[in-house]
Amino acid sequence: MTTFAEFGLAEAITRALTEEKYVTPTPIQTQTIPLVINGGDIIGIAQTGTGKTAAFALPILNRLAANPIRVERKTCRVLVLSPTRELSGQILDSFRAYGRHLRLQTALAIGGVPMGRQVRSLMNGVDVLVATPGRLLDLVQQNALRLNGVEVLVLDEADRMLDMGFIHDIRKIVAKTPAQRQTLMFSATMPKEIAELAAHMLKNPQKVAVTPEAITVERIDQRVIHLDYGAKSDVLSEILRAETVNRALVFTRTKHGADKVARALNKSGIAAEAIHGNKSQNQRERVLAAFRDGRVRTLVATDIAARGIDVDGISHVINYDMPNIPESYVHRIGRTARAGAEGIAISFCSRDEAPFLRDIERLIRITIPSSDRRTDRRPPPLQPSRQTPRPADANSRRTGKGRRGQRPPYPGHGQNRQQQPRNGHGKGRPRSNPDQIASVAFMRSPTRERPKSPADASDATR
Ligand code: AMP
Repeated sequence: MTTFAEFGLAEAITRALTEEKYVTPTPIQTQTIPLVINGGDIIGIAQTGTGKTAAFALPILNRLAANPIRVERKTCRVLVLSPTRELSGQILDSFRAYGRHLRLQTALAIGGVPMGRQVRSLMNGVDVLVATPGRLLDLVQQNALRLNGVEVLVLDEADRMLDMGFIHDIRKIVAKTPAQRQTLMFSATMPKEIAELAAHMLKNPQKVAVTPEAITVERIDQRVIHLDYGAKSDVLSEILRAETVNRALVFTRTKHGADKVARALNKSGIAAEAIHGNKSQNQRERVLAAFRDGRVRTLVATDIAARGIDVDGISHVINYDMPNIPESYVHRIGRTARAGAEGIAISFCSRDEAPFLRDIERLIRITIPSSDRRTDRRPPPLQPSRQTPRPADANSRRTGKGRRGQRPPYPGHGQNRQQQPRNGHGKGRPRSNPDQIASVAFMRSPTRERPKSPADASDATR
């Protein structure tokens, strides 16, 4: 498939795609669109950045265009569930952009904002509703919405919804939709719980999969700077001044850390904003708008807040703190070098973070070129940062009630421990076995569990 015309989409949709300057479908689109047009259920292994939103939005819009009916009050024809407010907003924007020549009613139901406007927007029924699970259930419980008219149900970033403790909400939501529906599920990974959910929700699903990281990572100029922990702030300002930065995304491990780094940058005369789960919806939107239109060129973010940010033209990704989950490194640096561009990824590695670097290099099978600015040249700690699960951990996998502290303590952040998930789901899951990681490299195994990040839960939205 080389053009969108070959899918046989409605003219109003292909016109919008031309206006969006989409010429060639991405691999996930090539695989998914014909299957969804045929009406089948889909399980898609794909991440943000692969074009998966259009992969489901285009054939859904095509269906709506082919069968325009008057929607009943307080119902929706298409329901898209997504884990975060940002992602939900972006999905809705995509539906609106590709469907701009169709007369469709769309709405967003996300937490963190008053419910009144959402209740009103659902009053006359909508064609497409994009929602976070918690708020959606609240609306259903308040009789603002019925789900008996859902023709297509999409679960986007299912593994992340699982991580954030939404699985029970999702089960409740699915139970309220008609059995005669088309269901599309997308997930970056396929842990056991997601495979079970898929088996329960989907009918004879076709599987589609893309593995974007291998391609992306090759285009990124990666560097490591070994430095003293206390020097990070100064080195960051120095880099942002010295390099030609179009947009820089700086990653910290904690929300508190993100605020601190942004404050230090502003103090040194570099305009920067922080984005993370503690920010209000208005603050996030304001910050993202400033980053998108170039008023602020440096955004400091935590992993979870950044994953939903859809901004092209990020020239630099800077790991102020090394991620303690190697896969997060790949996600982080994948934020640059999007849409065929090249990007630079610079990681600050203090002495205590050296084990994390080793894990990352083992995962990506590259020794990242490094420079050394340490004054403290003692050898890094020897203990491995990854541990194979212990029997107690294996138990906790079954009960879902694990202990805290499965992962190594994060250096320099002893006082800023991440919040626990809102509920107990998935808490304390053991980390992956290093051998497993080494063998999979970039090829994401559909059955491998992604390590739980407590930070995910703290950004949960209702
Ligand atoms: P997604 O994976 O859905 O978050 O999409 C990633 C980015 O790729 C978004 O900015 C989309 O607007 C863009 N995009 C999606 N499909 C195409 C395409 N076929 N051609 C060009 N850009 C695309």
